[in-house]
Amino acid sequence: MAGSTSHDLIIIGGGPGGYTAGIYAQRAALKTVLIEKGIPGGQLNNTDEVENWPGTEKITGAELAMKFSQHAAVYDLEVMNREVVAVEPGINHHTVTLDNGETLATHAVILATGGSPKKLGIPGEDKYYGKGVSYCAVCDGFFFRNKTVVVVGGGDSALEEALYLAKLAKQVYIAHRRDAFRAGMILQKRVLNEKRITVLWDTVLTEIQANDQGVNGVITKNTKDGATNTLATDGVFVFIGFDPNNSLVPAGTRMNANGYVIGDEKCETNTPGIFAIGDLKEKYAKQIITAAADGCTAALAAAHYVESKKAGL
Ligand code: NAP
Repeated sequence: MAGSTSHDLIIIGGGPGGYTAGIYAQRAALKTVLIEKGIPGGQLNNTDEVENWPGTEKITGAELAMKFSQHAAVYDLEVMNREVVAVEPGINHHTVTLDNGETLATHAVILATGGSPKKLGIPGEDKYYGKGVSYCAVCDGFFFRNKTVVVVGGGDSALEEALYLAKLAKQVYIAHRRDAFRAGMILQKRVLNEKRITVLWDTVLTEIQANDQGVNGVITKNTKDGATNTLATDGVFVFIGFDPNNSLVPAGTRMNANGYVIGDEKCETNTPGIFAIGDLKEKYAKQIITAAADGCTAALAAAHYVESKKAGL
């Protein structure tokens, strides 16, 4: 099928950006497929409560993800549950290869592949992943009821997840490498008022230790005086940011030094017909609403691009 164009638009990734693009593309009558390898919503499913989606004061990430997918279904968006392994740009069309070897030809591609949690890169982190080391409080917090956990990071994710864990665990430590949080003020205030949370300022972890039962402690280091300490804990939750999932970005497409794709105001990359949105794209604010806004912009721009392509312009 790669010889002829099977689609006007292929959206890769089913997070808030991908689904918004799908809704706009269907409304613009583009022949579209959204390809997602996991469940609808992407990182949203790892988020406990969303409190900044306008019009909805509070909703769980999983519920909002479900609403996105249901909304897209109203417009009959085709959703394919597969992994994309390559995107190859072409002059007449672009080719998208799936994990089963199938190829799809399309005029435009929206890359909405998001990011993956960054790792600390310390001894014990990989070894004890799933045995006390986690990157998702909503997924794994349940196993730490009435236990002690250490959360690493000082951004919005770390503080949100620490607050979630404080509802389950008996003690939550937040280890942050500086003496001030990066997170927004509302979250900071909530964390500092939560009795079950203790902040370890100027602190990094240098090792995660375990016994037969799983994680039982961490070695901490003070970033100011170098003092080391052993802290007993049952779990370690790491929230130190994300790396963009850029493995499908075609060669020659511009990215910044951190691997985020550089797009213009239409979210189009320097490779014509290839758009990048959401957490994959270089931008100031990485929020659900900005990912959704990118999805809208890219789909409208893709519609214009496809129209020009079909008109032979
Ligand atoms: P982030 O804002 O990049 O924060 C990462 C945190 O981890 C920072 O405090 C950083 O410390 C720390 N860190 C980074 N590398 C580290 C290392 N190797 N060792 C120890 N600490 C390390 O990442 P995020 O919290 O995942 O948020 C990502 C984006 O999503 C942000 O734009 C955020 O605003 C957004 N977000 C928004 C919400 C919301 O609005 N409710 C919720 C979640 C995420 P430094 O501060 O010293 O750099």
